[in-house]
Amino acid sequence: MFHVKQPEKASPKSDFGMDTPLAREIADLSARRRALEGVQLHFGGETRILTVSNQKGGVGKTTSAVNVAAALSGLGAKVLVIDLDPQGNASTALGVPHNAETPSVYDVLIEDTPLADIVQQSPEDENLFCAPSTIHLAGAEIELVAQVAREHRLRRALDVYLIDSPMDFVIIDCPPSLGLLTINAFTAAREVFIPIQCEYYALEGLSQLLGSIQMIQKHLNPDLHLSTILLTMFDGRTRLAQQVADEVRTHFPQQVLDTVIPRSVRVSEAPSFGQTVIAYDGQSAGAVAYREAAVEIASRTATQSKEK
Ligand code: ATP
Ligand code: MG
Repeated sequence: MFHVKQPEKASPKSDFGMDTPLAREIADLSARRRALEGVQLHFGGETRILTVSNQKGGVGKTTSAVNVAAALSGLGAKVLVIDLDPQGNASTALGVPHNAETPSVYDVLIEDTPLADIVQQSPEDENLFCAPSTIHLAGAEIELVAQVAREHRLRRALDVYLIDSPMDFVIIDCPPSLGLLTINAFTAAREVFIPIQCEYYALEGLSQLLGSIQMIQKHLNPDLHLSTILLTMFDGRTRLAQQVADEVRTHFPQQVLDTVIPRSVRVSEAPSFGQTVIAYDGQSAGAVAYREAAVEIASRTATQSKEK
């Protein structure tokens, strides 16, 4: 089902000859890998459109967008990632060229270029696609101000695109701001997916983000709702991480996924190889966690997540 297959680790006893926390961790990871191998999901219903947003920088938006997308495609779903951040990190991680000459989301938003003309297949999986961002997108925030239907441009382009290129999931990676690019994502999506980094200021700014979602619901997109929260960069050794996780779960019991993404070197080094961690080291702890998060997300239908 997934691209990278590595030999299973031996049982903890044969590795260490004793029952230690590390041995237990390895045994647990092996069991989780085996459980994932048995997962079978069926796709083909309505397209789910999720926007990965948090105006706080560096919380794991792009990492979560590309790795959940790659894990979903590994499960058999057809997935489009729209890179709406001028930094272009999602395009990089998906191995898709995005130099200044590459036709990009900028052309779609500002020049009315059809999305189909700019979407590229990721070399990672035939079911994984990316609408790349280029540096030109940095100017789009200002150029959009003067455009007709400036908040709806992405939605209109996506509606047309999906007629001929049906997708199971569209995942939009937003920049760390609440400007017109993010508003375009909120108008195009039905679901908001918020990654939260398990650290001290985690919840700061969240009420502003929730306020923006409410505002969009009221004026631009009544279907928009917060469906998913993913705790990222979790370091189980600190009490603070656990406290933050508990607090987020208390506030958002329905939306927080059971899966927590651990801080992992493999996750952070994958983009430098132009890969998601799913392709780079699909059996590593970080990849297993993202694959579990994808299964959880896919198991909730769009309607179910709206009811919550
Ligand atoms: P921005 O707001 O700039 O768009 P972002 O919210 O998209 O940032 P990422 O780029 O995904 O955040 O992550 C920020 C940094 O943290 C990156 O260097 C990334 O590799 C690293 N990182 C993300 N998740 C993990 C993880 N689980 N373990 C280790 N490093 C991680
Ligand atoms: Mg990002």
